[in-house]
Amino acid sequence: MKKETGTSPKFKTNNLYSSEPALQELFLNSIMDLYWAETHLVTSLPKLIRSATSKALISALENHLHETESHVDRLEQIFKLLGQDALAKKCDAMEGLTKEAEGIIENTPAGTSTRDVGIILAAQKVEHYEIASYGGLLQLASTLGLSEIALLLEKTLGEEQTADSLLTEVAEKDINYSAAKEI
Ligand code: FE
Ligand code: ZN
Ligand code: FE
Repeated sequence: MKKETGTSPKFKTNNLYSSEPALQELFLNSIMDLYWAETHLVTSLPKLIRSATSKALISALENHLHETESHVDRLEQIFKLLGQDALAKKCDAMEGLTKEAEGIIENTPAGTSTRDVGIILAAQKVEHYEIASYGGLLQLASTLGLSEIALLLEKTLGEEQTADSLLTEVAEKDINYSAAKEI
């Protein structure tokens, strides 16, 4: 494996910080981490969808599954803009969050609003993790002078925020009330 010496920039940027290889390395590694996370979500969200009961929840999750596929595409565009191969680096956080979601499903009765509440809790933790990741990387991309990449990150960030608000809405309007009535 080729090892960076830490003296040469990994990719071309257009400002003062552009020649800071350690910061570039951190940025690239974080993109690889997110790439793993988003790819993993494309396989995990269908499990949540299959386990959900509320129509509103199912459609919110299905909608976000499609968006998640485009998040993967955007990250691939970012690799291209950086002149790097699209490589996934295991994201321990996302692995943990999706494991937790599976645990919630196992520990709640099938077909209940209680399980739906649990799925929303788990899904919102995922969204908040993504919001933090995209928000931070957006900031770092601007610092590195990667404006085209910043725009792509911003687009995904907006969709993560919308997905999170939609889940809150579904919880408030459709699910928590009926879960409270389940004995
Ligand atoms: Fe995403
Ligand atoms: Zn991670
Ligand atoms: Fe998301």
